[in-house]
Amino acid sequence: MLIVMHHHATAQQIDQVVAAVVAMGLKAEPIPGSLRTAIGVLGNQGYVDDSSIRNLPGVRETIHVSKPYKMASRDFHPQPTVVDVAGVRFGNGLRPVMIAGPCSIETEEQMLAAAAIVKAAGGQMLRGGAFKPRTGPHSFQGLGVPGLSLLQQAGQAHGLPVVTEVMRIEQLDAVMRHADMIQIGARNMQNFDLLKEVGKSGHPVLLKRGMSATLEEFLAAAEYILAEGNAQVVLCERGIRTFERATRNTLDLSVVPLIKELSHLPIVVDPSHATGKRALVPVMTRAALVAGADGVMIEVHHDPARALCDGAQSLSGDDFQGLMIEVERLLAFLGFPPTRE
Ligand code: PEP
Ligand code: MN
Repeated sequence: MLIVMHHHATAQQIDQVVAAVVAMGLKAEPIPGSLRTAIGVLGNQGYVDDSSIRNLPGVRETIHVSKPYKMASRDFHPQPTVVDVAGVRFGNGLRPVMIAGPCSIETEEQMLAAAAIVKAAGGQMLRGGAFKPRTGPHSFQGLGVPGLSLLQQAGQAHGLPVVTEVMRIEQLDAVMRHADMIQIGARNMQNFDLLKEVGKSGHPVLLKRGMSATLEEFLAAAEYILAEGNAQVVLCERGIRTFERATRNTLDLSVVPLIKELSHLPIVVDPSHATGKRALVPVMTRAALVAGADGVMIEVHHDPARALCDGAQSLSGDDFQGLMIEVERLLAFLGFPPTRE
């Protein structure tokens, strides 16, 4: 529930409302605005009986937010959130962030080659997985902790912040020591214990949409992280499972403008996992940017034919460089300044 105060409400009246909410066993979070203060009510399981609050002095109205996410919603937080990953900023209409790198961290040589490609082409962040959620147990499972060091070194060598996936709570410390942003993969979007721990960490998070998650479930997953006090969350649309088998997943681009309407969190698009096809990645990257994405995450490998994971959807260095030239042109057309601030 959201309690909206009159614009002339006094600090004392606000305190009185907060005390009334606390007396109901709930948490109250005042949100000062330029015109009036609102008070977010948290901790309720269902509908809140507002009869003891509605008539308190200074209260204008109470709004029942029945959605399972509140802190992630625009009702609660009207201003867009900017997420800062070691100086690379996402959201609020800033120039979209281009994240690229291999699916999996394989070798030092491979990571340095990937970082050089990403940097030279004008990308801002490096990706790479050390803990891989593979569909089958016989596929390459990732290098684990040694891989994290290779990612970190490659990022540092080229001045690129890095993002990598965490699959289990026990991996979180190591991931935080080596990466600037923690990725929660599609398969873990509803691993609520992991979401809570990542929320407590305060580290920037890239939360990927589960392949069968509705938009409401996606935002409710983000809510778990925000509820622990971590608002540095970037959402990532990576395609959903539909009846269509011609693409690996179905890229649901319409969630980009919808999420912007419903939430203050930035959203990026991953056209690589969404399509599974290298040839479709450039055009869907452009489509994502036109739809208003705050960034795009693309799989790039210096030798896609030899990639240990997701080679068919990975761009080569030349492909990525070509795509980035198109992206530059498109962003200029869309009115973004030529360089990032
Ligand atoms: C990835 O980005 O490496 C990945 C495994 O993606 P997803 O969780 O979206 O399948
Ligand atoms: Mn992949």
